[in-house]
Amino acid sequence: MTTIQIAIVGLGKIARSQHVPAIAATDGIEIVAVADPHATLEGVAHFSTLAEMLAQAPGIDAVAFCTPPQVRSTLAAAALAAGKHVLLEKPPGATVSELGPLVAAAEESGTTLFASWHSRFAPAVEPARAFLANRTIRSVVTTWKEDVRVWHPGQRWIFEAGGLGVFDPAINALSILTRILPRPFFVTAAELAFPSNCDAPIAAKLEFSDQTGIAMRAELDFLQSGQQTWEIRVETDDGWLTLSAGGAKLTYAGVALVDEKKAEYPALYRHFVELIRRGASDVDLAPLIHVADAFMLGRRIVVAPFEDRP
Ligand code: NAP
Repeated sequence: MTTIQIAIVGLGKIARSQHVPAIAATDGIEIVAVADPHATLEGVAHFSTLAEMLAQAPGIDAVAFCTPPQVRSTLAAAALAAGKHVLLEKPPGATVSELGPLVAAAEESGTTLFASWHSRFAPAVEPARAFLANRTIRSVVTTWKEDVRVWHPGQRWIFEAGGLGVFDPAINALSILTRILPRPFFVTAAELAFPSNCDAPIAAKLEFSDQTGIAMRAELDFLQSGQQTWEIRVETDDGWLTLSAGGAKLTYAGVALVDEKKAEYPALYRHFVELIRRGASDVDLAPLIHVADAFMLGRRIVVAPFEDRP
């Protein structure tokens, strides 16, 4: 089988820390080019734009888009039109409806479109899904609190329109919830806190339910100092199941069922290679729809302006 030649578009924090090493660790795929206005990768062909790369490097089979979400759909459309397989970092776009034409384009050209949700590849997620499959769920409490100044220093796009603000990390929680809970759920109330100088929220409180009326709530905060928390607690008839450390750890009745180092991106790339080999796509927009619903239903409050350095 030939090795898939992949290019990365947007060589920023996540591309460097996760995509480059994960591709290197995955059989059947290798990185051959980068398109980024400034950043370069030693030993790999560099182009300033995707358009230049598509014109000058015809041997590329696949493109991973690790840019901020606001620019992603136009770029992905160009890559699909050029017959490339496409991996989208999360969130797959800045709107829900921009994904429809991408799905159609992939179908038409017979290429793979993978809207990736890296948190779904965390080691405790599938065990949590299996655990909950046949249990009665009473309530779900999600706490996703991190310090934007630690994890996203200088990333202005996060607080610009379409950058999602606190939903940039919290969509990871939604990607896990939509995977592990046995039934679809929906937003019933939301309060979004917008800094007076930002177009995206810095904190949010959400309530959800499902057709059985269970109570679900989520507390999201992008200004959490000290202890960082990425946790989902599910109350079942048999006790509480806790998924913590962003999906790396699973605890039930005080006993650790899973406690592993996170290795999401190698599994994510194995899945991408497998999709390409099978000629399939994988696009689940449920997490993005919940974010859109929170923006649509949410009550807005204005809070103190956000400065990158306090
Ligand atoms: P980042 O550090 O700001 O990197 C984005 C990169 O994309 C920058 O190098 C930027 O160049 C480049 N870029 C912007 N527009 C471009 C264009 N039109 N063509 C080519 N390159 C372009 O952001 P990041 O943290 O890596 O996040 C990128 C995506 O990954 C986001 O959707 C985020 O949600 C997701 N993600 C991030 C993390 C994380 O922990 N950081 C984790 C998982 C997923 P300039 O800086 O020169 O504009």
